[in-house]
Amino acid sequence: MNGVWASAQGMTVGYPGRPVVEGVTFDLPLGSALGLVGPNGSGKTTLLRTLLGLLPPLAGRLDRPGARPGGVGYVPQQGAIDELFPFTVRDIVEMGLAARHSAWWGPAAAWRAEAQAALAAVGLADQAGRLFRELSGGMKQRALVARALAGRPDLLVLDEPTRGLDLGQTATLLRLLDQLRRDRGLTTIMVSHVLSDVLEHTDQLLLLHEGRVAFQGPTRGLTERDLQRIYGPDVAFPALAGATRSPGLANGAVAAAAPGSAPSSGLSRGEPGKEPAATASDGAAPSSTGPAAPEPGRREAPGG
Ligand code: ADP
Repeated sequence: MNGVWASAQGMTVGYPGRPVVEGVTFDLPLGSALGLVGPNGSGKTTLLRTLLGLLPPLAGRLDRPGARPGGVGYVPQQGAIDELFPFTVRDIVEMGLAARHSAWWGPAAAWRAEAQAALAAVGLADQAGRLFRELSGGMKQRALVARALAGRPDLLVLDEPTRGLDLGQTATLLRLLDQLRRDRGLTTIMVSHVLSDVLEHTDQLLLLHEGRVAFQGPTRGLTERDLQRIYGPDVAFPALAGATRSPGLANGAVAAAAPGSAPSSGLSRGEPGKEPAATASDGAAPSSTGPAAPEPGRREAPGG
């Protein structure tokens, strides 16, 4: 792994007089896919804002050697784009171009060609002239990914990207994101409540709970017991390492789901094509100064 996008040591994130998450020590290797998970109010947004340089850490150290101006592409939650206005899909993508260029950059044809290339990358080449608000939920999300890609990011941040999508739309979007990451060498951060999405489509995991990092490290290292410590003993996720219950009792496909989230299924581990977990953000990695843990990369949830 060549370098890191960001590296945190003993970092506290929060607001003046209001620490939200303490003891954050991890590396975000370039090209990795980080899943950021935790109950509502656990500090995901606060940590994300800190990583993106929008909020200073309250304590500890944060280095961001991979950050460059304009290098972050942000895909907001469904519904974040005002749909009252009759924006076309092309208009939406050109907003991403505007973030990279000055308002006076190049002839209209150049804007159009760049927007068209971004739309082609997400499989929406033939939708440019349609009204954004008339697209399906899955297409809207892909259009927003195109908008982020138009800014030529190094880091793609996805805020609950599959929220409100059905199973087919979810699968299409997540496969697209995997492919873009591979083809373009993108680093990604996915904030999600849908644990199965995170387990299958990230290689690093940060799980926040009660003001601490309850789990961090390679995603494949998460166990059912880790989830039970955080979400209670009824959580079952049979496909996880060390799971004890039969698949028929599974109720954990959305173990971390917010009320109203659509369930997602199809959990599998170590399937062909799954990228090996990166190790650079292990707690045992040389660049990390975190305390040596009994199991590399693991933090015990407070309160057992
Ligand atoms: P999540 O994204 O996991 O739902 P947040 O990072 O949004 O969690 O919030 C974590 C905690 O920080 C919450 O208790 C929230 O009330 C608090 N918080 C969020 N924004 C601010 C702020 N601007 N000032 C003070 N506290 C805040």
